[in-house]
Amino acid sequence: MNCFMCKGHLENNGTTFMVDLGNCIVIIKNVPSQVCSQCDEVSYSNVVTKQIEKMVNMFRSSLTEIAIINYPITERNIIKDMCLVLKLRYVHMD
Ligand SMILES: [Zn+2]
Repeated sequence: MNCFMCKGHLENNGTTFMVDLGNCIVIIKNVPSQVCSQCDEVSYSNVVTKQIEKMVNMFRSSLTEIAIINYPITERNIIKDMCLVLKLRYVHMD
C-alpha cells in the first residue's frame, strides 16, 4: 500500500491520536497506523477508525478534561485509564 498523498511507502507504526472536543482532549496512545516514510501522513484502517470514533464519543459528554487511553481499547483499559486521569486531576486540584 502506498501513501495517497505522495505515493510514498507506508510503514506500520504505533502513533498517538489526539482530538480536542472543546470540553475534553482525548489522547489515544499506540494506535496501529500506517505512516508514510516520505511525508509522515498517517492513515488508519477502517477497524481502527471505528474504534477511535467509539472512544471519542464516550468522552464527548464526560467531565474529564484530559483523557489518555491506550490502544487496544477495551472496557478494562478505559476504566483503568479513567481512574488514572481522575487521580491526576485530584492531584492537580491540591
Ligand atoms: Zn506520503
